[in-house]
Amino acid sequence: MQVDVKRAAMPPAPILEARELVLVSRETGARLVNGVNLALHPGEILALVGESGSGKSLTALALLGLLPPGVEQAGGAVLFEGTNIGGRVGDSLRGKVVSAIFQDPQASLDPRWTIGRYLVDRFMRLKAMSARQAQTAAADMLAQVGLANPARIMKAYPHELSGGMAQRAMIAGALAGEPRVLIADEPTTALDVTTQAQILDLLEDIQTRTGLAVLMITHDLGVVAEIAHRMLVLYGGAMMEEGATEVVLAAPSHPYTRALLASMPDLDSDIAPDPIPAAPPGGFGRGCPFAPRCLSALPACSDAKPVITRLANGQASACHLNQNVVPGVAREMLDVAG
Ligand code: SF4
Repeated sequence: MQVDVKRAAMPPAPILEARELVLVSRETGARLVNGVNLALHPGEILALVGESGSGKSLTALALLGLLPPGVEQAGGAVLFEGTNIGGRVGDSLRGKVVSAIFQDPQASLDPRWTIGRYLVDRFMRLKAMSARQAQTAAADMLAQVGLANPARIMKAYPHELSGGMAQRAMIAGALAGEPRVLIADEPTTALDVTTQAQILDLLEDIQTRTGLAVLMITHDLGVVAEIAHRMLVLYGGAMMEEGATEVVLAAPSHPYTRALLASMPDLDSDIAPDPIPAAPPGGFGRGCPFAPRCLSALPACSDAKPVITRLANGQASACHLNQNVVPGVAREMLDVAG
């Protein structure tokens, strides 16, 4: 895979955090997210990466205070600027300080409302504008997100827009309250490749112009390489690896990150992608959640959960191969296995 990534910034204190976040199913009590730590800093783009079922979208929904009815927070904390906000984000922060866009913009927009009505409503509620002021602000914002002829777009219904245009309208709505954090949950997954690149360019441009902190939820390492300063890899609801994007993609320390990279098609190579074996796990055992699929697994991996270790190059990794904690196994053997 060709890696062309942004240089990692050295950010100040986190603006939004999850600390030891635990999310469980109300029905079964099963742990869906198991002790995730995440810190989003002002002015950075952090990618939360993983397959379906990794817990990345649930983590994002917990940060937004929008957990689905069947899921509850059973442990840990969500903090905004160091203060535990728990589920109260919806009352005070959502839209104004923390905003979000999702995978399917057509489904997120009310089909009965024109884009103009949607945006005017956002500006009136979030910025306390009059209807006249909101009309002007909405048209300006549509132009800022690259939509030609804002007057025509204001009169259009969601079904009259292409996927890319609808996502730009959603981004306009998300920015109406001048948020400091944007959570983007698979915002380009439903789009064709060309439109995907345009939306990523737009998000990058907005982030650079406004200093917005962006949490990008994605399963696509190409998107990560394109846009993210840092990346955090989740598997089975637990953190596997975290670090600067250029470092992690150039030299992944964790077997799961390596497997994700190997499973990506490379158009510049004759080598076929190598799919990750077996299916995602259904729950948490005592050991490493990736153990049932890990080609480097040792017997101890199913019994002992690896702790998160900070490596010399700044990456953090939760793998016994990056620690010297598996009883009776020499470091040299672990290096060979990895
Ligand atoms: Fe594989 Fe063991 Fe590392 Fe888990 S701890 S990723 S099973 S080697």
